[in-house]
Amino acid sequence: MWGLFEADNDNKDVNKIIKAFFTQEETDSQWREYALCSQTNPTAFFPEKGGSTKDAKKVCTNCVVKSECLAYAIENDVRFGIWGGKSERERRKIKNANKKSIALAS
Ligand code: SF4
Repeated sequence: MWGLFEADNDNKDVNKIIKAFFTQEETDSQWREYALCSQTNPTAFFPEKGGSTKDAKKVCTNCVVKSECLAYAIENDVRFGIWGGKSERERRKIKNANKKSIALAS
């Protein structure tokens, strides 16, 4: 599950609280309710090609559902935008690294 709840997240205590109150199925669908980007300008998360991702990534840094968001984007092969503080290129690198780890482990 791409480290759901275990990825690098500065808000691990909040994640533990969320996890304690919801079942896995509920957290899979309810993490969006805690998305910090919903309180900001969404266009910053979908910059034009070559545009800055700095503002969006700064928001993601403080988002309590950063790991869930990143896991969702990787699992669903989302191609555009900043998700979980990562660009499409960064998410692709993570996915490829995970594939290599799995291949080496088997
Ligand atoms: S990690 Fe970033 S893109 Fe994902 S929900 Fe949080 S603020 Fe939005």
